[in-house]
Amino acid sequence: MPRPIFKSKYSYEPIRHICDYVKNPPSMMINQIITDKGLSSPRFIRSSLNTISFKSELVEDSKIPFGLLIQPFADLCEGEIDSIPLADFGHYGPVRCERCNTYVNPYFCFMNNGKMFFCNMCNKENQVPTEYYCQTNMNNVRSDKFQRPELQFGTYDILAPPKYEENLKVKEIYIVIAIECSKYMIESEISEQILSSVQSVLDQIPEPQNTFISFITYS
Ligand SMILES: [Zn+2]
Repeated sequence: MPRPIFKSKYSYEPIRHICDYVKNPPSMMINQIITDKGLSSPRFIRSSLNTISFKSELVEDSKIPFGLLIQPFADLCEGEIDSIPLADFGHYGPVRCERCNTYVNPYFCFMNNGKMFFCNMCNKENQVPTEYYCQTNMNNVRSDKFQRPELQFGTYDILAPPKYEENLKVKEIYIVIAIECSKYMIESEISEQILSSVQSVLDQIPEPQNTFISFITYS
């Protein structure tokens, strides 16, 4: 459903929004200070639907687009955290679900005194790697929960282990440039200016022999 139209965000004092399972994220038209309490800030990821049916047929019948708007390096605002917390898993790398590769997150459910966990995405029961083991309390909460950002926050950075460096050598680079070519953009010569700007930086591409560029135009 279309969101209601709010007044300009500049006309509002900031509201405080806590990202958890209870509250839906407010419109980004509202000036807001967001706190990550286990779910990522909507500045980084926002769903087109806040409530999703269990039945996929109902989602299809509603004809409401279901997608995610993802902005990994979104700017944070004053009053929010200064930087994204960093998780260091040592040489063994981040813990992930064996089946769906979901990264460890605050909604992994640890069981059997911390030796097993259930993936919150696919429900697979996984064994906790020996290096990552930590005992749990009677509520199945790991005792190191508040020392580990990956168990507290929806958004965290991961310090890449040495074995990941092997994959850093990029063989081919693909760049996709989307340019609006509506009547207004063409008549105002903005599209032409964009193409001119793109052309001016083509010679500065680091490895042109390994780079492929695609253009998408839309109106
Ligand atoms: Zn999984």
